[in-house]
Amino acid sequence: MLEGECNCGAVRFGIRADVSDIYVCHCSICRRFTGAAGVAVVVVAKDDFEWVSGTEAVKVWQKPDADWEANFCTMCGSAVPGENDPTRMFIPAGLLPHDLDGVQVKHHIFVGSKARWDVIGDDGQQHQGHIAG
Ligand SMILES: [Zn+2]
Ligand SMILES: [Zn+2]
Repeated sequence: MLEGECNCGAVRFGIRADVSDIYVCHCSICRRFTGAAGVAVVVVAKDDFEWVSGTEAVKVWQKPDADWEANFCTMCGSAVPGENDPTRMFIPAGLLPHDLDGVQVKHHIFVGSKARWDVIGDDGQQHQGHIAG
C-alpha cells in the first residue's frame, strides 16, 4: 500500500492503486488554499483509499456557492485528502513519497485564471477551465 501523511503525521492514509497522473489546478481557490501557484493532486477511486489515522484532525471547509471544499489538518495546516466527489478521492500529490516512479503531471486545469507569475514548465496538457467532458 502506498502511504502518505501530513506535515505533523497526525493524518495518515493509504492508497491501494498505482498513481501516475497528477492534476494541477491553478484556480484562485487552490492558490489561496496552498499559498502557492495552485494544488497538485492525484485522483483515486474511493474503494482504493483508506484512512490510517487522524480523521478527527481533518477539517473540511466548504466554499459557499462553489462546488469545492478544502480539507486540511487542524494540527499543522497541511492539505489532506478530500472527497469533492461521491466516488473519488482527491489526494494532494505532495503528501506522497517524492520518489515514486512513473508519476508525472498529466493535466493543468484552470490555466485561464492562473497567476501571471505562474509559469508552467512541463508537458502536461493545459485546459483553460475544467477538463471538458
Ligand atoms: Zn498534520
Ligand atoms: Zn482549483
